[in-house]
Amino acid sequence: MDGQRDMRGTIQEKIMRNAQRPLAGVIDSHCHLDFKHFNRDREAVIENARRAGVVRMINSGVDYSTNSKSLELAKSYEFISATLGFSPNSIDGKKDPEIQMLLDQIEENASQAVGIGEAGLDYYHTKDAPTRERQAEIFKRVIAIAESFGLPLVIHSRDAEQPALDMVKHLEKVVFHCYSGTLPTMREAQDRGFYISLATNVCRSGHHQILAKNVSLDHLLVETDSPFLSPRKGRNEPANVLDAVRLIARIKGLEPQDVAAQTAANTKRIYNIH
Ligand SMILES: [Zn+2]
Repeated sequence: MDGQRDMRGTIQEKIMRNAQRPLAGVIDSHCHLDFKHFNRDREAVIENARRAGVVRMINSGVDYSTNSKSLELAKSYEFISATLGFSPNSIDGKKDPEIQMLLDQIEENASQAVGIGEAGLDYYHTKDAPTRERQAEIFKRVIAIAESFGLPLVIHSRDAEQPALDMVKHLEKVVFHCYSGTLPTMREAQDRGFYISLATNVCRSGHHQILAKNVSLDHLLVETDSPFLSPRKGRNEPANVLDAVRLIARIKGLEPQDVAAQTAANTKRIYNIH
């Protein structure tokens, strides 16, 4: 009895210690620091992340102007990298010339990016078949750009993980950003060597906690998707990626620093960051 109580005490103490212990070398593999939510205090938010132990942030573009801003951020900070994308949720209302301009922008600047995306399929926001088909057409063109440059593709998929996976099976380097799909699709993706990125919403979603328990550490990335998916109330920011690291570590029975180190190593490997 006493022994058991002692052990329980020890585990609880360990969790408490881990919750306070600082982490080093963490990477937020997906955020949107260029969004207007950070216009008033962008510098302070970046500084806060650095102080928390975040050594790199990958800023993802979703359309023309956010792609430009992602490139600017990557130029201004050596610890910020950019990916250039065309989100399925940015397609609405765009005519062919505008779509072509965006795809040209991605192609012309690909050499300055560590990846292509986010791009993909969003069946949660889009219910009608013609718009879903349009998403797939544009996704195909973005996939072709990633392929031609040999860059990793960052997938945005919502309620469409399996159809998105079916479209990228010929690729070598794929990241499912903020993966929220089923366990079988996740397993199929990681069996192909693709990466699963879990976001800070793991802190408040039972489904994502099941994914965290089952995902292989060798294929795991962590992200905030800031300013979205905050683990607490209000705006999310890259420093909060530590919350996800700590919770995933707890779920997997690992040391938070080991999860931080492994996810950072995975991020560097897939994006070819040294
Ligand atoms: Zn995003």
